[in-house]
Amino acid sequence: PSPRSSVIIIGAGVSGLSAAKVLAENGIGDLLILEASDRIGGRIRKEKFGNVSVELGAGWIAGVGGKESNPVWEIAAKLGLRTCFSDYSNARYNIYDRSGKIFPSGIAADSYKKAVDSAIQKLKGLESNCVEDATNRTDFTLTPKTPIELAIDFILHDFEMAGKSSNSFLLSPAWMPRKAMQMKIFECFLSCIWNFGSHTEVEPISTYVDFGEREFLVADERGYEYLLYKMAEEFLFTSEGKILDNRLKLNKVVRELQHSRNGVTVRTEDGCVYEAHYVILSASIGVLQSDLISFRPPLPRWKTEAIEKCDVMVYTKIFLKFPYKFWPCGPGKEFFIYAHERRGYYTFWQHMENAYPGSNILVVTLTNDESKRVESQSDEETLKEAMVVLRDMFGSDIPDATDILVPRWWNNRFQRCSYSNYPMISNNQVINDIKAPVGRIFFTGEHTSERFNGYVHGGHLAGIDTSKAVLEEMSKDERQNDKQNQNF
Ligand code: FAD
Repeated sequence: PSPRSSVIIIGAGVSGLSAAKVLAENGIGDLLILEASDRIGGRIRKEKFGNVSVELGAGWIAGVGGKESNPVWEIAAKLGLRTCFSDYSNARYNIYDRSGKIFPSGIAADSYKKAVDSAIQKLKGLESNCVEDATNRTDFTLTPKTPIELAIDFILHDFEMAGKSSNSFLLSPAWMPRKAMQMKIFECFLSCIWNFGSHTEVEPISTYVDFGEREFLVADERGYEYLLYKMAEEFLFTSEGKILDNRLKLNKVVRELQHSRNGVTVRTEDGCVYEAHYVILSASIGVLQSDLISFRPPLPRWKTEAIEKCDVMVYTKIFLKFPYKFWPCGPGKEFFIYAHERRGYYTFWQHMENAYPGSNILVVTLTNDESKRVESQSDEETLKEAMVVLRDMFGSDIPDATDILVPRWWNNRFQRCSYSNYPMISNNQVINDIKAPVGRIFFTGEHTSERFNGYVHGGHLAGIDTSKAVLEEMSKDERQNDKQNQNF
């Protein structure tokens, strides 16, 4: 084994790097970061597509303009990251049916109302039954049926739910989709819930309450990940934009954590062994639910049960490049919705003309089962499906896409999800258990952020919190050692 480090951080996404930075700033120089992939960033990832950088993972800085300042927004502003305000409020006026007609706003408003009523009904059902199995027992009289109702219902619910599409109704964190819901009606939805009963434990969405309601799309050639490189630069040795510090080890897939009262032994897939006093594990909730990392002794039952209880959300942005644009641009046209009788079928669209004028790129968002379905088929098949949908909306004479990009977050064994999805109607026990350390292994990542899970700032703040907890443990150790030495 290599010499024992004070702390090994597993994963170089935003939470791992934030944790490492705080440790370094507090004098922990002998830390080690082990990252499974060949790059830093994790779920923040840009890729060249056409001739611009698109964000396969996090795209927005959510929660801007409120009473408190979002720390990620502050960092981005300091770095001069180029961003673009996203105004979702008009999407409801851009709902297409299968024959390319835009639904008149009256019908759209009615359908919203219906979807909201339906959600409230479901919530009432939830209230009157026990939380765990209310889903099956409630009689939903307002179940959405028409394509437009399905489309709206999808945007209201499926976007934030993990794999429970047909009866999803527990609101929980997610950004863009939730923002799509923030179209006025959603505010109405929330206020209905808040007035609904004092014992309904539905919380407002902390990100928007604390940091504000605005969202900005990162549209910078350097990518969202530039933020992380800059963060790393503050404590790791870099040269010409590259991290050259050997305390960051890429392509190190951690497979086993053997822990005892004295320390942790970390084994990687390539047969290396590393020793540390403490480990901070930032792998996603999807990875924790998989068998990628084993623990010796095994994790206690309260821990594994909590990990199993957290839903994972798969969220896929499919990018399509065209020879020219055929979709409407201009104010209020950035987001549009396709209403199909199959729920969640290529429903939510965005053009990239605001972010990258002249790029001729469209993005369509799929979630959960639809995400998994397209992940398992060829990109050519996905392109064909998307073209049928686009021809429904814009006519048969539109050109074929010349390129497609389909991220595969679900099939990536270092991710196995896009983000965690806790039901909002639940107590904090699950998240507290997921976050709680086991011996010398500390857990961090967006899924451990009580207030901001699912977001970049959630990961960032979780990393800071976890490293502070580790520092506290280290100083306890020191005090104990001093005491023992005195006794000698
Ligand atoms: P990660 O970024 O996943 O970092 C964990 C790291 O651990 C990874 O680099 C992984 O490779 C590594 N790892 C895993 N297993 C091992 C192992 N066994 N050994 C070593 N290393 C390992 N958030 C927003 O705020 N706004 C958005 O618009 C937004 N959109 C999103 C869209 C998509 C498609 C996705 C996927 C996410 C989005 N998010 C968004 C969420 C945001 O990206 C995450 O909350 C955040 O990046 C998570 O950071 P993290 O450090 O917790 O985890």
